Amino acid sequence: MDAEIIAIGSELLTPFRQDTNSLYLTGHLNQLGVEVAFKTVVGDTRAHLVQVAKTALSRTDMIILIGGLGPTEDDLTREAVAAALGLELRRDPELVAALYARFAALRRQMPENNERQCDVIAGAAVLPNEQGTAPGQWIEGNYAGRKKIILLLPGPPWELRLMFEKQVLERLRAALPPAFIATRIIKVAMVPESTCDARIAPIYKKYADVQTTILADAGEIQLHLRSRTDSLAAAQQRVDALADELEDELGDTVFSTGGESLEQIVAYYLEMRGATIAVAESCTGGMIAERLTSISGSSRYFLGGAVVYSNELKTAMADVPELLIAQHGAVSKQVAAALAEGIRRRSNSTIGVGVTGVAGPTGGTEEKPVGLVFHAVADGVQTEVVERKFIGDRERVRRWAMRQALDLVRRKLM
Ligand code: ATP
Ligand code: MG
Repeated sequence: MDAEIIAIGSELLTPFRQDTNSLYLTGHLNQLGVEVAFKTVVGDTRAHLVQVAKTALSRTDMIILIGGLGPTEDDLTREAVAAALGLELRRDPELVAALYARFAALRRQMPENNERQCDVIAGAAVLPNEQGTAPGQWIEGNYAGRKKIILLLPGPPWELRLMFEKQVLERLRAALPPAFIATRIIKVAMVPESTCDARIAPIYKKYADVQTTILADAGEIQLHLRSRTDSLAAAQQRVDALADELEDELGDTVFSTGGESLEQIVAYYLEMRGATIAVAESCTGGMIAERLTSISGSSRYFLGGAVVYSNELKTAMADVPELLIAQHGAVSKQVAAALAEGIRRRSNSTIGVGVTGVAGPTGGTEEKPVGLVFHAVADGVQTEVVERKFIGDRERVRRWAMRQALDLVRRKLM
């Protein structure tokens, strides 16, 4: 079955608020074998609401409308859905009485406009709202010659979640034919998106029944695989078969097949080897330390780091010889290696990491252009340095560099 989610609220059409409820719902719907075919965001305008409700009715069999169930004039979802379905809206006296009682229990006078929340679309089942005052509604019926499920849920995320989990999930399970979706996420480090796609497209194109989505961020590509069939085993088998082929093709650039982040994988290897790490960062400004310490328990292996922007601090905190900087420049292979070796010695860690580069957009020269970054990893026996020239704005260059450094550590420990 396909679904459409309609997020209602004029605030969702401003730069200040995002529709996040639909992400939450999509996760649950997918687990039930329901694909979200459309998402619509619409403001609190009656005519627009009726229009999107009608459009949704014409193209999907499940429609979930979120928000606009409150007591105020701009809460129009009930009215608009009733109009789109050609059904009457009736004020439910029992709900009205319960709402007055609820206010009385809080020793508050209920403003009369709250009664609007008790308007129920003819034939709808009322879904109690434990966290708020606006009940949800569940409507099942034949429209355009097909059986449809239409759901009205409150907008506040905490109300929506509780209502969905307590009132909706079981009803949906009972109402839907069994269908299963299997998913896998493969994560790849330091491969450009176009290169990655060129390598894997011939493989995933053979699996027409598995949806493959490529999400690229600086230095990281995520391959999301999904298969939907009427048996979980069959869906899983298809996804696993494709994942195996993709992993074979991409080799050791694949760092995770179970959803873990790059820093989690690095943490896993450090713990496994009983190793510790310290970092000396110039152009990444602490990003590597931030990523490594984002993991709970990181104090077991992360000793610390230094953000050494000036030449003086490179020398003072990571023992980079002044002469080395004078000879080769702060952005150089030699200084990256010295940063990694110096911070390692200073902190007595198993592994030292050094990064230096030109993040841009200013500060580039012909010899040392914007995007040029040197990454070094030292373990006391050998120091590896990787030189890269990244493309993108300051933020992207820094993120690429952070991932490159983490990936170097991963490869060292693998
Ligand atoms: P109700 O059904 O209770 O009237 P509503 O959405 O009309 O819900 P609002 O007062 O407009 O009530 O919204 C309450 C809060 O919930 C606001 O902070 C709003 O931004 C948030 N909210 C509404 N819809 C969404 C959504 N789709 N995703 C995330 N937050 C949302
Ligand atoms: Mg609203």
